[in-house]
Amino acid sequence: MICVICGREGRGFCWLSPKLGQRTSDGKRLFKRFCSMQCQSLHARRIKSGGGVVIDPTHNEKAAMEMVLPRLGEYVASVGMEKPLSLYNREEILQMVDVVLTAYFDNLRDITPDDVPF
Ligand SMILES: [Zn+2]
Repeated sequence: MICVICGREGRGFCWLSPKLGQRTSDGKRLFKRFCSMQCQSLHARRIKSGGGVVIDPTHNEKAAMEMVLPRLGEYVASVGMEKPLSLYNREEILQMVDVVLTAYFDNLRDITPDDVPF
């Protein structure tokens, strides 16, 4: 299972909605997994602050996403600007995902060095 905060692989940390709390559409309590206590704590803080379980990106996360664009553009240019995404091979797609994730987390660490949950 994937961490609902950062998207990394879950490592045994979890959260279950209260007995009288939110439920899934089929009536089950909500269950979330996390990669670390930091992500679990971040999730708990967001719920307590009224953020609910739907986690919108923060201002810093949005900024980090925006800052990915130059590195994504460089990668796309290296593959070939005229090449449609549908013609990328598996290795090119995986490399693009790596470029985006690495740039995103690098940017987020740079923007919020004391607040990154990993
Ligand atoms: Zn996480």
